[in-house]
Amino acid sequence: MIDKKLLATQLANLITLTEKKIAGYEEMSAPVTPDDAIGRVSRMDAINNKAVQEAALATARRKLDRLRTMQSNLDDPKLGLCKRCGRPIPAGRLLAMPESPFCVRCSR
Ligand SMILES: [Zn+2]
Repeated sequence: MIDKKLLATQLANLITLTEKKIAGYEEMSAPVTPDDAIGRVSRMDAINNKAVQEAALATARRKLDRLRTMQSNLDDPKLGLCKRCGRPIPAGRLLAMPESPFCVRCSR
């Protein structure tokens, strides 16, 4: 049986953390202006970093979406069951990765 209170707390924590991460990424992925007093090479670096930031930002946003879905499904009787095979997801995994609706086997 899953400890729903614990899961709710964990979800709230992860949501706050992910929101902070997203805010940070958004700040860092501000447009690179050509007028910046940086050389060509570091400008290339800035552009490369921007692509990495944007990918990280997209991942973080997806994760946040899933966490929020899970949070709104806390009262679902199927909570903690794998969305694919219907078997219970071990509490440890559920708490470590509440954004994943699949058991270890199905998420592979
Ligand atoms: Zn499964």
